[in-house]
Amino acid sequence: MKPPRFEYVAPADLDEALEVLADDSLETRPLAGGQSLVPMLNFRLAAPERLVDLNRIEELARVEKTSDGGLRLGAMTRHSQLERDPLIARGAALLAEAACFIAHPQIRSRGTVGGSVAHADPAAELPAVLLTLGARAHIARRSRDGESGLRVERTLDLPELFLGPFFTALEPDEILTVIEVPPPVSGEGTAFDEVARRRGDYAIIGVAARVRLGAGGACRQAAISLVNGGPTPCLMEEAAEVLVGAEPSPDAIATAAAVCAETADPAADMHASEAYRRHLIRVLTRRVLTRAITRARTPSRQEARTR
Ligand SMILES: Cc1cc2nc3c(=O)[nH]c(=O)nc-3n(C[C@H](O)[C@H](O)[C@H](O)COP(=O)(O)OP(=O)(O)OC[C@H]3O[C@@H](n4cnc5c(N)ncnc54)[C@H](O)[C@@H]3O)c2cc1C
Repeated sequence: MKPPRFEYVAPADLDEALEVLADDSLETRPLAGGQSLVPMLNFRLAAPERLVDLNRIEELARVEKTSDGGLRLGAMTRHSQLERDPLIARGAALLAEAACFIAHPQIRSRGTVGGSVAHADPAAELPAVLLTLGARAHIARRSRDGESGLRVERTLDLPELFLGPFFTALEPDEILTVIEVPPPVSGEGTAFDEVARRRGDYAIIGVAARVRLGAGGACRQAAISLVNGGPTPCLMEEAAEVLVGAEPSPDAIATAAAVCAETADPAADMHASEAYRRHLIRVLTRRVLTRAITRARTPSRQEARTR
């Protein structure tokens, strides 16, 4: 099918794009990589009257290191750049590890970090991975009546952004501009894995984990999140709590994995039953926690990606 008719605007800078979005005389949506939005238009699942194309806005495509060693990923950073950019590999190895599980190379060369986060698909890899990394979203809009300045900006922790399946706290006149990832800390290890029917398919289940060990080897911090494990991308806090303060022994890992499977909220669909998804959550959580802990103990292994 062809998409319904729409007006198309391709501004060269962010303020111009925000101005187009602020004009509510036409229902307007940002167009990033188009890898979710264009199929939605073609299937008539969305019918905006105007698209504002973000692809010419250089400001949104920058990848920068922050002064504390974290990363600022412009919303238009392509999935393929996550796989290849040495700055990203050093600053957030988990992103590089997970990005190659997203779809196929052609889709990864167009799809963007901002598009994936704004789309808020519970089956997408990046929202879950960014939650695990403790990322924050930077958001901008044009000033509304009575507000001073040209732009109004705000930041949200990702758990505050994801409100429901395909539903975020972004207002219709807002653009997600940057995803900020905190710097890696010493004693930290991360890992990602997923099971899909075929390579490149959406995951039946995926799991991302980050573990930080103290000098004595006990776990100081842990974060686990699931791909397709519930209606929204979410952190599995109860499961992570099992590990904190204890020696991350195989038994502790197995208990955390069991809690993760119990407290998740996976759905049944044509690809897998709820029981099978819970089984995968347990198996994959155990696997990624074990891998993350090994990497935390042996930092050189963090670079050795597994796919
Ligand atoms: C065959 C196929 C297989 C796929 N498999 C996977 C997969 O396995 N895993 C996966 O994660 N994804 C998969 N995808 C989706 C792909 O990753 C998309 O790139 C991603 O979901 C959306 O990114 P995009 O840049 O293409 O956004 P778009 O499609 O351009 O936009 C998506 C939505 O986000 C909004 N939006 C985009 N950017 C912004 C912004 N900066 N601020 C505010 N709103 C914004 C748009 O208005 C739209 O509503 C697949 C896609 C296809 C076609």
